[in-house]
Amino acid sequence: EIKFENVRKVYGDTEVVKDLNFTVREGERLILLGPSGCGKSTILRMIAGLEEITSGNLYMNGQRVNDTPSGKRNVSMVFQNYALYPHMTVKQNIMYALKVKKVEKKEIKRRLDFVLEMLQLKGYENRLPKQLSGGQRQRVALARATVNRSDFFLLDEPLSNLDAQLRVSARKELMKIHEMFGQTIVYVTHDQIEATTFADRIVLMYNGELQMIDTPDNVYHRPANVFTAKFIGSPP
Ligand code: ATP
Ligand code: MG
Repeated sequence: EIKFENVRKVYGDTEVVKDLNFTVREGERLILLGPSGCGKSTILRMIAGLEEITSGNLYMNGQRVNDTPSGKRNVSMVFQNYALYPHMTVKQNIMYALKVKKVEKKEIKRRLDFVLEMLQLKGYENRLPKQLSGGQRQRVALARATVNRSDFFLLDEPLSNLDAQLRVSARKELMKIHEMFGQTIVYVTHDQIEATTFADRIVLMYNGELQMIDTPDNVYHRPANVFTAKFIGSPP
C-alpha cells in the first residue's frame, strides 16, 4: 500500500504537485494518466525516493517514508528513458541490482534465465545497450526491474517505444509478471488502451492536481468533472 497525504512538490516557485491525497492498494495495478507536464513522473520519483517531498506525508506499507532513502523502499523502477548503464552488457545491466543486494549466485542465475526467456532476450545477453533496438532496450529495463522481486513496481511509459504488436505481447508479459509476484504497480502511460486493459484503477492528473481516481469503467462512463470528460473523449 502507498498512501499520499497532502503531498506537495515545489520546484523554485512552481508547484508541480498540489495537495495530493490518494492510496494505492496492496497488489493493485494503478495507472497514472494525464497530459505532458501534469506531474506523473514526479509522482513516481517521489515514491521511488528519487525526489524529496516538499510537504505532506508519504506512507508505504503503513510506514512514513519521507526520509527513507531510495535503496530502502523496496521499489523497482523502469524509467521513461530506460536509464540502462551504457558500458554494461544486457546481462550485467539486469544483474546489477541483485549483486548490490547480495543475492546468492545460483539464485541470480535462476532469475536471469527466467527473465531472459520471458522477455525474449535470449541470445542478447552479451550485447551493449547501443547494440539493441529501442524495443529490446525497453525489455532489458523491464527485465532489470523484475528480477528484484520488489513489493513496489514503478513504470514510466515502459512500452512507449514498442510497435503495436510488441506492445500487446509486452503488456501480456507484464500481466503475467504481476500474476506471479503480485507487486503493487504504479504505471504511467499516455496510451488509453493500455490504461483500460491494464488498470484496476486510473488516476487522472491535470496540472499537478488529481482529477479523478476510479475504475476504467467509471472514468470512461461516469467522468467526475469536465476535464475528465474532455480528456477521455469517447471510450477507446
Ligand atoms: P510527461 O508526460 O511529458 O513525461 P509528466 O507528467 O511526467 O510529463 P513531470 O516530469 O512530472 O511531468 O513534470 C511536471 C512538471 O514539473 C513539469 O512542468 C516540469 O517542467 C516540472 N519539472 C520536472 N522536474 C523538474 C526540475 N528538476 N526542476 C524544475 N521543474 C521540473
Ligand atoms: Mg514523465
